[in-house]
Amino acid sequence: DEGETRKLSRFASELQWLEDRLPMNPEGRNKRLGALAPIRVVDVVFSAGDGNHDVQTAAFNLPNDERIVAEKGTKRIMLRNTQEAKFKKVLVPVSAVALSAADRENVAFAPFFTHILMHELMHGLGPHDIEVGGRKTTVRQELKADISGLWALQQLIDKGVIDRGMGRTLYTTFLASAFRSIRFGTNEAHGKGQAVQLNDLLDRGAFRVAADGTFSVDPGKVAGAVTALTREILTIEAEGSEAKARALLERQGVVRPEVQRVLDRLRDVPVDIAPRFVTAGELTAFHHGE
Ligand SMILES: [Zn+2]
Repeated sequence: DEGETRKLSRFASELQWLEDRLPMNPEGRNKRLGALAPIRVVDVVFSAGDGNHDVQTAAFNLPNDERIVAEKGTKRIMLRNTQEAKFKKVLVPVSAVALSAADRENVAFAPFFTHILMHELMHGLGPHDIEVGGRKTTVRQELKADISGLWALQQLIDKGVIDRGMGRTLYTTFLASAFRSIRFGTNEAHGKGQAVQLNDLLDRGAFRVAADGTFSVDPGKVAGAVTALTREILTIEAEGSEAKARALLERQGVVRPEVQRVLDRLRDVPVDIAPRFVTAGELTAFHHGE
């Protein structure tokens, strides 16, 4: 999709600006980011094998072959229709249970999609393990990409690169998506990382739990809390402190009772989508002359 792809490449030109503002010791910032992998937005027509089991992938960075990566670099692919399906079939029903009635109104596809993109881009910013080729999908890497992605979107909203309207939907959509990810389990990198963020932002007063068990965003506190948590994670990464990282994950990477009560009420909502490839089916049928 050329139009969407062009829109997204605007973010690419903001990455050095974001890196220069990362909430961390300035010495740890990368003064010259390397060339960026191109970003494309595509619709999935068909996937199979590794691409079509367990949690359906919404974005990826390929190839994994280190020799090709060293020569040609990688390409980031955003699977828009997969993300749209996850949004409609999972995130909206999750928000109907997890969020307060007022916050439910502020769950939208644009911030969901844009945060996934920003997550992918933020893997390349700030301190990270030196590694040729394939990225590490450790909890800490996912945690860094998630929370700093949220931080980055707020910076781009403030700068006017992203429409101000997204400021209203960004955090409520993120909150609903935290429940979506935690359902993958806290022994999975994204799920554990999201549990850490949810608990930490609850502790900082950015999210609140009402008497009826629903969650909501405190608009006055959330941006500051996200910056504070981003600073904490980036600082741990820059220091390379294994002990601090482990302590944080052990303390916050858990499902608290108030979160579990929401998860219990989500039994009728699917954990993820199981796509049926209608277009591919039609094409195959046509090919077989039916
Ligand atoms: Zn990631």
